[in-house]
Amino acid sequence: MSLLQVNNLGKSFGGVKAVDGISFELAAGELLALIGPNGAGKSTTFNMVNGQLKADQGSILFDGEELVGRRPREIWRRGVGRTFQIAETFASLTVVENVQMALLSHDGKLFSTWRRAADYRRDDALQLLDQVGMQRQADRPCSVLAYGDVKRVELAIAMANSPKLLLMDEPTAGMAPQERNSLMALTKELVVQRGMAVLFTEHSMDVVFAYADRMIVLARGRLIAQGKPLEIRDHPKVQEVYFGSGKTFENKEAAT
Ligand code: ADP
Ligand code: MG
Repeated sequence: MSLLQVNNLGKSFGGVKAVDGISFELAAGELLALIGPNGAGKSTTFNMVNGQLKADQGSILFDGEELVGRRPREIWRRGVGRTFQIAETFASLTVVENVQMALLSHDGKLFSTWRRAADYRRDDALQLLDQVGMQRQADRPCSVLAYGDVKRVELAIAMANSPKLLLMDEPTAGMAPQERNSLMALTKELVVQRGMAVLFTEHSMDVVFAYADRMIVLARGRLIAQGKPLEIRDHPKVQEVYFGSGKTFENKEAAT
């Protein structure tokens, strides 16, 4: 049985069907890319899975349990993680302190205990940082890190909750191509090592084709194709709806 089973999921805003009855599955240890033009319904889909938005139709089974109707915190507790941007207020903390905060939160401790807990699970935090290649920068403030390194720390923070499924909405936005590849290579490693499932959106087709095990394609709220990257690449409906006639993945990539 798949870890995540989405069936006939839908959400409207006013008269607009942002997500229009989509179904897909995601297995443990699988990296699934969700692609589609702006406004296709990708973020709405993510936010229904993580509980920020309530679906108006359909079902989201995670580990066999219904997520629709549950609160974000409950869903997070069950093992659905997501990456967050490090808030400005936390940027002055060191790298390891940020991960320690995430461990505190995972353990259900209040942030007010922080002052007394400056070395709370420090070794565990350092181990998480080791997994994302950031242990050597553990004692630097996040505010001085390179952008790609901040993204690695954000990944370590998400790992503090030991998610079975990690949701990443445009994780590589604003990154240079090399940084994108490095972040996705790292994500792939975590998927393999931990048997974690990842659902991510990504604009760079190079990244999607290089790292995704499978892809699903949305257009105007509908799922128009799913399959392995090479199958999607040659799918006429995808070429047509996603890029307009006459364009291909290759020249789209060259144009951006
Ligand atoms: P994507 O992430 O693929 O760019 P979104 O899921 O953000 O797409 O948006 C899908 C559609 O739903 C768009 O038409 C968008 O304008 C609309 N939409 C998304 N969120 C809201 C909202 N909170 N209120 C009204 N309309 C929304
Ligand atoms: Mg979006």
